[in-house]
Amino acid sequence: MKVTDYISASKNRPLVSFEILHPLKGKSFQSICDVLDPLMEFKPPFINVTYHRSETKFKKMADGRFDKVAIRKRPGTVGICAAIMNKYKVDAVPHLICGGFTIEETEDALIDLDFLGIQNILCLRGDAPHGEVQFTPEVGGHHHAIDLLMQAERMNNGIYLEDDLKNPVKTNFCLGVAGYPEKHAEAPNMIADLKQLKAKVDAGAQFIVTQMFFDNSKYFEFVDACRKMDIHVPIIPGIKPLTTLKQLTVLPRTFNVNLPEELVIEIQKVKNDDDKVFKVGVEWCIQQSKELVKSGAPVIHYYTMSNVKAIKTIAEQVF
Ligand SMILES: Cc1cc2nc3c(=O)[nH]c(=O)nc-3n(C[C@H](O)[C@H](O)[C@H](O)COP(=O)(O)OP(=O)(O)OC[C@H]3O[C@@H](n4cnc5c(N)ncnc54)[C@H](O)[C@@H]3O)c2cc1C
Repeated sequence: MKVTDYISASKNRPLVSFEILHPLKGKSFQSICDVLDPLMEFKPPFINVTYHRSETKFKKMADGRFDKVAIRKRPGTVGICAAIMNKYKVDAVPHLICGGFTIEETEDALIDLDFLGIQNILCLRGDAPHGEVQFTPEVGGHHHAIDLLMQAERMNNGIYLEDDLKNPVKTNFCLGVAGYPEKHAEAPNMIADLKQLKAKVDAGAQFIVTQMFFDNSKYFEFVDACRKMDIHVPIIPGIKPLTTLKQLTVLPRTFNVNLPEELVIEIQKVKNDDDKVFKVGVEWCIQQSKELVKSGAPVIHYYTMSNVKAIKTIAEQVF
């Protein structure tokens, strides 16, 4: 079923969804089950699965030279989606990124997803590879999420890269995109960012999942700004709890988000006690979730980042 159909069928009751980080190479599907098993009691209609592009490393060769090699630390998004659907009988929403893919490889991935009966895809550009500042597209790949989205949308209309296919199947993907309540780091200003978001929606995006935020007013203002720009698709708030002292600096740097002063003060008060930091962060996220539910957010999307204990504690209080 499509994300948009779940939202329509929910009749304004808030839904919960979880985003999981697919495991490092060498780990088994059990590591995903360890995250999902305790969360399935909250009946998420769908589970998002992230995608990671390969990284470039320099490897010392036998003759002493260094060769550039591509290493994909977290492969297997498509397989994990299939395994999740098979085991839990819920829909999986794979993230598909531009980075590391040629358009031909993107088409093959979309065909695989269609064969697996996956109906929802979150279309993203992807970040710069680890250790690099700027995003660089693959040679022959897409530059922006909208280009990937348009390729999937063309397949929804039966248009593939080869134009001599006989009666090509029209895929039936429900396509989502990312939105940034506090602006994407590279956008010159909020209006410019919103215009790009509007272009993605006009090109066929049917839902938006937001970057994490810790101050609900940022989400409410973002939704208002989107509606004023004639963006009327569901805007799913994505949130996560702050659970360690280190995240006070890591989260703003990594995700271009602000941490509210009140939260920072509360964390600083207990900074020498890891358990108390965890409790403050989890309680903040519970209050955030309750307010979002009350405001009529269609789905609360939790970035689990494998932190089952925190997410389960929050979901128990909210759903
Ligand atoms: C919910 C969510 C899930 C995510 N999951 C993953 C994941 O699984 N894997 C991963 O690698 N990353 C993931 N990310 C991170 C995401 O890939 C990065 O934030 C990335 O930097 C931007 O992706 P985007 O899809 O928003 O890109 P885009 O929509 O391409 O936007 C990127 C920047 O370019 C601008 N822009 C957009 N279109 C154009 C255009 N046509 N011309 C000029 N400028 C333009 C935008 O304003 C923005 O500043 C996720 C982010 C979110 C919010």
